[in-house]
Amino acid sequence: MRFLLVVIVLAIVGHLLRKALRPPPRGGETRPAQPETMVRCALCDLHLPRSEALAEGERHFCCADHRRRWRERAEAQRGRN
Ligand SMILES: [Zn+2]
Repeated sequence: MRFLLVVIVLAIVGHLLRKALRPPPRGGETRPAQPETMVRCALCDLHLPRSEALAEGERHFCCADHRRRWRERAEAQRGRN
């Protein structure tokens, strides 16, 4: 009886260990976890992760409002020249 109990416990522990050691299946998607690139808002100099920033060519913005204001400023400067 005790032998059976030991076998069962070992089976459960082995199963859990295999589950813990095996990387979770994610449909073949193997993206290495790398630190997020930080970018700077062209208007207010706020640093934020690139995934949260709004890109406009080479520039990045912290929000749509700053992108709009930067565009307006750029167009005003272009109009002056
Ligand atoms: Zn900004």
